[in-house]
Amino acid sequence: MRYVIVGAGAAGVAAAEAIRSRDNLSELIIVCEDTHGYYSRPGLAYFLTGELPEKALFPFQKRDFDRLKIKWVIGKAVRIDPPNHALYIRVTNQTNETSLKYDKLLIANGASAVPSDTPGSNLEGVFKLDSLTDAHNIQNLTRKAKAGVVVGGGITALELVEALIARKIKVHYLLRGDRYWNNVLDEAESRIVEHRLKEHGVVIHYKSELAEIQGKKGKVEAVKLKDGSIIRCEMLGVAIGVKPRMELAKSASLTSDRGILVNERMETSAADLYAAGDCAQVFDPISKKSVVDSLWQPAREQGRVAGLNMAGESCIYVKAISFNVTRLAELTTTIIGNVGGGKDEDMVGIARGDSETWRQLPDAITAQTGFEVNHIRLMVGDRFLLGAIIMGDQTLSFPLEQIISHRVDISSIRDQLLAPGAKFGDLIIDFYNQLQVEYS
Ligand SMILES: Cc1cc2nc3c(=O)[nH]c(=O)nc-3n(C[C@H](O)[C@H](O)[C@H](O)COP(=O)(O)OP(=O)(O)OC[C@H]3O[C@@H](n4cnc5c(N)ncnc54)[C@H](O)[C@@H]3O)c2cc1C
Repeated sequence: MRYVIVGAGAAGVAAAEAIRSRDNLSELIIVCEDTHGYYSRPGLAYFLTGELPEKALFPFQKRDFDRLKIKWVIGKAVRIDPPNHALYIRVTNQTNETSLKYDKLLIANGASAVPSDTPGSNLEGVFKLDSLTDAHNIQNLTRKAKAGVVVGGGITALELVEALIARKIKVHYLLRGDRYWNNVLDEAESRIVEHRLKEHGVVIHYKSELAEIQGKKGKVEAVKLKDGSIIRCEMLGVAIGVKPRMELAKSASLTSDRGILVNERMETSAADLYAAGDCAQVFDPISKKSVVDSLWQPAREQGRVAGLNMAGESCIYVKAISFNVTRLAELTTTIIGNVGGGKDEDMVGIARGDSETWRQLPDAITAQTGFEVNHIRLMVGDRFLLGAIIMGDQTLSFPLEQIISHRVDISSIRDQLLAPGAKFGDLIIDFYNQLQVEYS
């Protein structure tokens, strides 16, 4: 038996671990085009601000991969021939394509940042943050730059802003709308983030869009906005969304939508061919829709389920309530379940899908409290909490995650939660403690 996995990210490595937990003898090959191998993409932002050394990005050491008895092929998988169970690879530093036969194949090649299509996007100084190579590129650019512009409305854009701040670059942040991340955060939350950015000297340009990136000798010199204004800068960060890498799926004519469509066993439409992680589109029992997650933990779980099924188990993936701990302008922020509506390519996996549930529940109401740094927002449904956002103090994150993800009936405290001036914290902690007693 030969297992082949394309991609050494969260999904690919979790699949390899799952396969080895059931089958220690068969051949297991990972094909990966990134010479850095397996590392934490969420950690890249912390690496760029100098809070994490590069070596802390690598969760595995060589001995961990040796233990899994993995054979590595460093190269780009270019196409799949499902009837012949063959994967074609352009091995790094070789010109010809090599074919590799498989018995079971997992596509775990992730998603990539949507590139800018603004004229001038090919100039040196235009950057994104997808990989460790991108992070190194940003480090190099900031060595010479004095001013930078960042475009995009979600978490990654903010990470780019913070990376530039940490590297003493004067930052201009372009927002298409009139506030930050308006389809996930409410106005108070957006303003908290914006206020903190402004304190760091960031100039926020509201209702602004790029018209042109201007350059000299192949390097960024300025950006021109649609209103005609010009911002002088040496670098431009673009974080306008991510999209699943679909080239391999297309080459194999797999049934696809936004991502590769998989069933609950992570099987694609072709025999012995699985997909997991950011490239896969999975069924969401809450929204009853097929959705693409772009989060680390779901990618690992999907990879685990795919790996177990590849190794002969019968295992299903159940999409959990989304849970993301992030940092917005140095403020630790946990986003659980449904906290907003609308569409934002950069927050797929956070509110997409779940937001429809919220709209279908006409009696769901937003109850809110908080002040500048410690802020909680709860989405209260008829009998359940549908979502929560916790900024600052994280004491309530775990209890809320438990209450929301296990769909605990909150009828007994609902009216108290919604009463004017309700003390959210005390109510949630008391309720959670009571649950602990009941279930112990
Ligand atoms: C800057 C940044 C910040 C993030 N922050 C968070 C966060 O705070 N919380 C969170 O939950 N998630 C976060 N994410 C998302 C998270 O990292 C992804 O959801 C997760 O990495 C997806 O895992 P994956 O295995 O599907 O894909 P990836 O981790 O992207 O791995 C894909 C692998 O496939 C390889 N590959 C691609 N194409 C080919 C090919 N043709 N041939 C061979 N190899 C190929 C790539 O080199 C890579 O090794 C962040 C992502 C980024 C980029």
